[in-house]
Amino acid sequence: ARQITLASRPAGWPTAENFALVEGETPAPTEGQLVVRNLFMSVDPYMRGRMNDVKSYVPPFRLGEPLDGGAVGEVVESRADGFAPGDLVLHGLGWRDIAVLDARHARKVTPIEGLSPSAYLGVLGMTSLTAYAGLLDVAEFKPGDAVFVSGAGAVGSIAGQIAKLKGASRVIGSAGSAEKVAHLLDLGFDAAFNYKDGPVGQQLKQAAPDGIDVYFDNVGADHLEAAISSLNQHGRVALCGAIAAYNDTTPPAAPRNLALAIGKRLTLRGFIVNDHGARMPEMVAEISGWLSEGKISFQETVVDGLDNAPEAFLGLLRGENTGKMVVRL
Ligand code: NDP
Repeated sequence: ARQITLASRPAGWPTAENFALVEGETPAPTEGQLVVRNLFMSVDPYMRGRMNDVKSYVPPFRLGEPLDGGAVGEVVESRADGFAPGDLVLHGLGWRDIAVLDARHARKVTPIEGLSPSAYLGVLGMTSLTAYAGLLDVAEFKPGDAVFVSGAGAVGSIAGQIAKLKGASRVIGSAGSAEKVAHLLDLGFDAAFNYKDGPVGQQLKQAAPDGIDVYFDNVGADHLEAAISSLNQHGRVALCGAIAAYNDTTPPAAPRNLALAIGKRLTLRGFIVNDHGARMPEMVAEISGWLSEGKISFQETVVDGLDNAPEAFLGLLRGENTGKMVVRL
């Protein structure tokens, strides 16, 4: 079997040298285990944090050990009740072509006509759950709210569409290229801007002249500062990610206007999608319905081959993906 290990820890932006491709024997499965041939694996921004040797809500990757993360694959051998060769499973041992794992850590998923199995890593998986729970539970979205979603990529493009479908008065998105901005408008966002075109604060004020009620933050820093300025009284912020700072070696300078949160009676609430698993069935039912009715769309950027997985991850941090970035194995 082949797997990608953490060869060294990055300082600042990671590079290909931080990863190694290692070949080794596949261990024989013991009682209760499955052997899974991975079909797709996920690369996600949170993995950057796991490359640092710091305590967080998920333990850091270990030097010289294989990386891990979401993957979907086909069972090729089963020593567990309820699983048989050919079953499609979602599990946490990505970054390798063959995974041997306890069946209790795998979830059987149904192949869906017309959808790639990679959908379980994105639009029917963690990506949409993050958007769904972040918007509805964490930001307590209600119809009529004006919503700003920064870094509207995989999670954000879904969050914005859910807001529209559930009655937002206005949805604004930001992204890092003219093509991505055009894509957000195609998805039904009322306004979108390229954060590289000028100060985010000014661009947001133009896009949301009446202010915003909900901010879904994927970026942090200047985006968060801009949102605080544009938020209306009793506005709510779901702190989902802060990708602008993931490769920084010093803390960000913004938001400088946090004190405004007091007078505006704002709520800023961080969240981790893992705590919202109970919402999964409802999310899958609702999103599947919208997909079949053509009311929601999603994109994937697919990179081929395990050897290209590090490059896919680095590309994700540089913004080379539109929609969910996945690797086909
Ligand atoms: P995306 O599809 O949004 O991919 C990451 C994108 O971030 C890139 O495509 C790039 O697009 C953008 N980006 C990179 N650097 C910057 C920067 N300096 N400023 C603004 N944008 C930047 O990934 P996801 O949708 O999977 O994740 C989005 C966010 O959600 C991340 O912050 C992630 O950490 C967070 N997250 C949080 C979870 C939670 O449980 N709290 C769960 C899942 C995700 P561009 O071209 O626009 O720059």
